Amino acid sequence: MNLILMGLPGAGKGTQAEKIVVKYPIAHISTGDMFRAAMANGTELGKQAKSYMDQGQLVPDEVTEGLVKERLQEPDTESGYMLDGFPRTIAQAEALTDITAELNKPLDAVINIDVDPKILADRLSARYICKTCGATYNKLYHNPKVEGTCDRCGGHEFFQRDDDKPETVQNRLQVNIEMNTPLLDFYADRKLLYTVNGDQDIDAVFAEIEKILAAMA
Ligand SMILES: [Zn+2]
Repeated sequence: MNLILMGLPGAGKGTQAEKIVVKYPIAHISTGDMFRAAMANGTELGKQAKSYMDQGQLVPDEVTEGLVKERLQEPDTESGYMLDGFPRTIAQAEALTDITAELNKPLDAVINIDVDPKILADRLSARYICKTCGATYNKLYHNPKVEGTCDRCGGHEFFQRDDDKPETVQNRLQVNIEMNTPLLDFYADRKLLYTVNGDQDIDAVFAEIEKILAAMA
């Protein structure tokens, strides 16, 4: 079972990825982990990636694609893989098609966890923090037991991190929508795209994913 998992920030991709690899014996390949491992192991491509990052530059596609190709040859991918964070562009998606064809590990499905960006914006910008002790709260899911009083330290002053402010959140979502949309079209054209309603509780989302994967096995 060879998958790509997609979803906008806040859609619950990380949570579902964890649930998928608990149930199915496939390798979870997140781009961040893949880079860290290659750099820690000091492979040739890992060293190249590191030299770009150390200079504050983007890692070129051929290096990233080389790393993906190496990673997809490791033994834990024999019964399948789930890519997370790659591809990010059409050029990378085309390269991935070639790599997986060459390795005879073609994609079976691209699962997109779909949530209305307006709902995501609300979820992501609901976070706030106690000024005194740093305890984290969420206006939607997790408020102090006594309104306006920190559970942990009894403080009364709260603030929002810049990253969680509505305009920043909106920007981050927009960048991701612009990146994902062409990829979703690319995989829809190839009849590989499956859309899951991510605006449900965690177990209901996972049940939809299981149904898709069961039809594939
Ligand atoms: Zn506090």
